[in-house]
Amino acid sequence: MKKNPVITIDGPSGAGKSTVARLLAARLGIRYLDSGAIYRAVAYVLDKNGVPPEDGAELREALAKLTIHMEDAFITVNGKDVTDKIRTPYVSAIASKYSSLPVVRQSLLMIQRQQAGESGLVAEGRDMGTVIFPDADVKFYLIANDKVRAERRWKELREKGQEVELDFIMGQIQKRDNSDSSRKTAPLKAAEDSVIFDTSELNIQEVIEGLAEIIRSRTG
Ligand code: C5P
Repeated sequence: MKKNPVITIDGPSGAGKSTVARLLAARLGIRYLDSGAIYRAVAYVLDKNGVPPEDGAELREALAKLTIHMEDAFITVNGKDVTDKIRTPYVSAIASKYSSLPVVRQSLLMIQRQQAGESGLVAEGRDMGTVIFPDADVKFYLIANDKVRAERRWKELREKGQEVELDFIMGQIQKRDNSDSSRKTAPLKAAEDSVIFDTSELNIQEVIEGLAEIIRSRTG
C-alpha cells in the first residue's frame, strides 16, 4: 500500500463514518480527522458567546479570533476543552446552521488541510473528497438506510446517558441531511471519483475489511 495515503470518508450522519474512520486510521497507522467535531466545536462556542449564525461583522470578528486545537480525540476552542459538550442533538442542529455559511467554511478550510501533513490521513465529514482533499488517494461515500442511521445515533446517545425518542432522532437526521445537501457551499454529495459503500447490512468490522480491501487494490 502507498505509504502516506489521504483517504476521505464522506456521507450523511449515522452512516458509520466516525467509528469507521477512526478504526481504519488506527489500522493503517495514520492520523484521523473528524471534521464534524470542528464544526460542532465552533458552533458550540459561537452560540455560547451569543454570536448568531448570520454572516455579518459580529460573526466575522468572532471567526477571526478563533483558535482551534485538535489532539487525538480532544478538541479545544480558544483554549477551552469542549470535547464533552459537542455531542448533543442541540449542537448537531446548530452545527448544521453555522456550517451552511460560506464564511464559516472558508475560515475552517486551512485547519482541516493542515491535518494531513506529510504523514497521511483518514478524513471524515461531508466535503472531504469534494472540497478539502480533492486529490485524495481513495475517496469513500458511506450510506445506510434512514432507519439504520437513526438507530445507530439513538444507541450512541443512549450509551452517553441521553434519553431521546427514536422518532425525534429520525426527524433530526432527515432535517440535517436536507440542510447539508441543499446548501450552496460544499453541499453533502459524493465526489465523482468516490466509491459508494452501503453499510446498512454490515457490522463495523465488515465495513473496515471492505474499505481496507478497496484501499489495497487502489493504492497498490
Ligand atoms: O459529522 P457530524 O454529525 O459530527 O457533523 C455535524 C454537522 O457539521 C453536520 O450536520 C454538518 O452540518 C457539519 N459538517 C459539515 N462539513 C463537514 C463535517 C460536518 O458541514 N465536513
